[in-house]
Amino acid sequence: MKGPNKHLKGIITRCTNYKESDRIFTLISDDGIMKFIARGAKKPSSKLSGHIEPLNYIALYYRPSKSLNSVSQVESIHSFLEIKKEYNLILKAQYMMELAESLSSENDGNSSILNLLLSALKNIHISKIPTLDILIFEFEILKLQGFGISLFNCTNCNKELERAEHYFSSNVGGFYCARCFESKSLFSESVKVTIDQQLILRTISRKNYKDLINFNLSEKEIDNCRKLIRDSIRDIIGVQLKTVKFSDL
Ligand SMILES: [Zn+2]
Repeated sequence: MKGPNKHLKGIITRCTNYKESDRIFTLISDDGIMKFIARGAKKPSSKLSGHIEPLNYIALYYRPSKSLNSVSQVESIHSFLEIKKEYNLILKAQYMMELAESLSSENDGNSSILNLLLSALKNIHISKIPTLDILIFEFEILKLQGFGISLFNCTNCNKELERAEHYFSSNVGGFYCARCFESKSLFSESVKVTIDQQLILRTISRKNYKDLINFNLSEKEIDNCRKLIRDSIRDIIGVQLKTVKFSDL
């Protein structure tokens, strides 16, 4: 006997056609990452038609199944047309969705990733510095999933870091104080980080996002910070994300 319909909200991250008229898609939902089949969604007459597209924020009813959950009803909440009309923003959105997907697990019942992704996608088209928004997204999503970067204390001895250049290791997700760095000869696995870059990351971790705008940051400074985070992401996921190769986001 078929179980009762369940309700979910989420963002479609990927979609493929299946058989003649079905679509299979991946959703980052308020219940973790999930896969669905929308039967007949390719038929123009279907009430599911038009809703099952990547980057759509949807509400759906589905029948849970051990293989693929089958969608019975769907409604678009937001289609992010403001992003879809600009190729460069689409790439940025794809990258953020791929990152969210890589760090999500099935049925984890945690809506925080969805909320973080939604808020990033809603803001990116009005942002003065979109790469800064991506840096904030990367920083926050790592923190949310328990891979937060340790910025204020030495990752080895826990001593508070003084205002100076320090070395960052993506392996351990943090900085070394001068003493630990020298005594442990950690040069090969660390990169030197300027005071300014540390300040940017610390400001993000304090959520003082408005202050960042007043810093008059150059793209290069933001990029340097993003390289640190990107190395951490690569170490956590174990692979480079596909979208990173395609464009310098
Ligand atoms: Zn130390």
